[in-house]
Amino acid sequence: MLLRRKVYVMQQTHTLILGAGLAGLSAAYHLDGHEYLVIEKNSSLGGLCTSEEKQGFVFDQTGHWLHMRDENMQRLAAALPGLDRVTIERRAHVFSHNTITCYPFQSHTFGLPPQVIRECVLGFIRARYESDRSRPPANFYEWCMANLGEGISRHFMIPYNSKLYTVHPREFACHWCDTYIPVPTIEQVVDGALTDPEHDSAGYNATFSYPRSGGIGALPEALFSLCQPERFLFNVHPVAIDMQRRIARLASGDEIAFKTLISTIPLRDFLQLVRCGGSDRLHEAAGRMKIASVSYYNAAFKTAPAHPGHWFYIPEERFMPCRVGFYSNVHEGMVPPGCSSAYIEYTHQGPLADEGAFRSASVELLLQMGLFASADDILFMDYRLIENGYVIFHREYPEDMQMIERWCRESGVVLAGRYGRWVYSAMEDAVLDGMRAAETVRG
Ligand SMILES: Cc1cc2nc3c(=O)[nH]c(=O)nc-3n(C[C@H](O)[C@H](O)[C@H](O)COP(=O)(O)OP(=O)(O)OC[C@H]3O[C@@H](n4cnc5c(N)ncnc54)[C@H](O)[C@@H]3O)c2cc1C
Repeated sequence: MLLRRKVYVMQQTHTLILGAGLAGLSAAYHLDGHEYLVIEKNSSLGGLCTSEEKQGFVFDQTGHWLHMRDENMQRLAAALPGLDRVTIERRAHVFSHNTITCYPFQSHTFGLPPQVIRECVLGFIRARYESDRSRPPANFYEWCMANLGEGISRHFMIPYNSKLYTVHPREFACHWCDTYIPVPTIEQVVDGALTDPEHDSAGYNATFSYPRSGGIGALPEALFSLCQPERFLFNVHPVAIDMQRRIARLASGDEIAFKTLISTIPLRDFLQLVRCGGSDRLHEAAGRMKIASVSYYNAAFKTAPAHPGHWFYIPEERFMPCRVGFYSNVHEGMVPPGCSSAYIEYTHQGPLADEGAFRSASVELLLQMGLFASADDILFMDYRLIENGYVIFHREYPEDMQMIERWCRESGVVLAGRYGRWVYSAMEDAVLDGMRAAETVRG
């Protein structure tokens, strides 16, 4: 009998791109005219930016709203074929003390119990005048106390972020806060305690845009239509990356030789794949990296919710979910006529302990918020999981990242995207990261 030996294939490319999410797709698009190959472990593209359809309801992987502040991004979005978009003014809220207030909490306490308002306003004023600004805050907790004060920290920032990131804000670095957390003026805090605005334009995402049809998945699809499909390999992932020989070994046993590498896969996973002299310190840094997973429901309802809000932050510990949002309040094209749809989120580290508990806590929340009269309004609730959701900025994060970035520069590796760079960032950033990664390779 003849024994057949498997013949392994060695491919070659100039630039190997790991991952076909928005960052990888954007890198590929911007490398047009250069030799590249994209490998993607899933059978389809888009990463976190995909949509699914069921019984006429379109769902994304929780709310994925497109904020575009950068001109390059605006130009690219306008040029994408078939990507017709609607522009929407944000209606974001907070549900706390059985009251729905406007987001951001720090400048909208109107309607909360008087004692809570007093603590928030006085705490904010005290922080403004009494905080020690001679040294930068050491962690997220200190940032909140120094910039927003005790009341706002106690009633929103600390409980909400403890739920979202699954660790206490004292365990969390704060280099990202100035970009993403709006700090109001004293006038805004006082006015927000006395009046109830319909909505507020504070923060980095006051308006956003969204595909008119197809859900957010239409965005990577449109980008892909401008790339060369034959340069994408799906259902393929590396098991080791030899940086000395510049070869990625794939799970199939095949190999890809490359000159430069753009990685958009989770940095922790990427570092664990790297083989080179001195890779121990990379593996050690990877061992310190933590990330929160997001469990959520694609929820469909027979009726409309009793509130027009787009999404609601849920800071209180008594509720398991941390956020609920209504696709159908953003864009009615996402549901059959008369119906509505939502995502309900809960973050955790490791596997979800009890899906049944999450399900009943989600229904309970919708009823307590007064959004639906009864559980009979629910058509279906499908459970979904995002394994890599929110990077938890560990204490040694700044030093670890400096070391990793130096190694990347010296080794011809470019990191791109939210998980590739191990940051908190949005879809726009992923696209821009991909663009910059391509510029670096071309440069
Ligand atoms: C719950 C949640 C809500 C969000 N909401 C918004 C929002 O409203 N607006 C907004 O702008 N942004 C939002 N974001 C952020 C947004 O999803 C990301 O910034 C963006 O999609 C990241 O794109 P990426 O290409 O960097 O990563 P990803 O989308 O994760 O793409 C990485 C790709 O790499 C692939 N991959 C992973 N490992 C391997 C491997 N070993 N080998 C090969 N391929 C691999 C993955 O399958 C994936 O396709 C949200 C994120 C989360 C978690």
